[in-house]
Amino acid sequence: MQFPTVSVLNIPFINTTNQAFIAQLSKDLAANENRFIVTANPEIALYATKHNDYFQTISQANYITPDGIGILKGATMLGTPLTERITGFDTMTALFEIANQNSYSVYLLGAKEEVLQAACQNVAKQYPNVTIVGQHNGYFDDQEEQKIVADIERTQPNIILAALGFPKQETFIEANRHKVNAIWMGVGGSFDVLSGTVSRAPKIWQKMHLEWFYRFASHPSRLNRFPALIEYMRLVKKEKKN
Ligand code: UDP
Repeated sequence: MQFPTVSVLNIPFINTTNQAFIAQLSKDLAANENRFIVTANPEIALYATKHNDYFQTISQANYITPDGIGILKGATMLGTPLTERITGFDTMTALFEIANQNSYSVYLLGAKEEVLQAACQNVAKQYPNVTIVGQHNGYFDDQEEQKIVADIERTQPNIILAALGFPKQETFIEANRHKVNAIWMGVGGSFDVLSGTVSRAPKIWQKMHLEWFYRFASHPSRLNRFPALIEYMRLVKKEKKN
């Protein structure tokens, strides 16, 4: 199914609910479709406006979801509001649940080795019917990348999660997705949360749309990302005028 989209900085975000999106992914998995999911926040949107090769890469995705309140704010400013935020972490969790119900297999790629190990242990504990057919940390050279891709091709996972940060994760997916019919999704720092290394904002903060503030407050080093948010908002305002 094609979802209606809302464009912010020329990026077509799917305009739907988490529930409808997850239902669609469940169907895609059952039909063994090849799917590429990008969960885009303002930083990703800004990066795409400045790097045409990355813009072209994410344009190949089947679903680009609005991950971040800044995307929702941008859409509202443009007079075309989006229904709700669809985050990488929530989508990943839903995929694990579907995989657990259907005994699907998963490949986990990304993050530091100890984070990845802890994330795999938590998946095994929380989703006992999920088979982790392979895993590799996110720090590899070209030669190791070939081995990783061969491993993915050999093990034919139903779901491939790439936690490499942008643009690396989307570039990797677009280059390799034709090798296996699966759900391929870039999940950024989600393994850090899954492993328990980083905590997500409490639900109440999420409901109040303050998750971004929680992330800045608990990791002050992320403050260097603030100028990107400001520039993103400036470009959205410019888009509104045009
Ligand atoms: N990462 C990786 N390989 C790299 C660069 C980053 O595996 O070459 C991992 C990093 O360890 C972290 C994630 O990618 O787990 C990026 O997290 P970040 O918080 O920057 O992503 P966000 O959630 O903000 O997109």
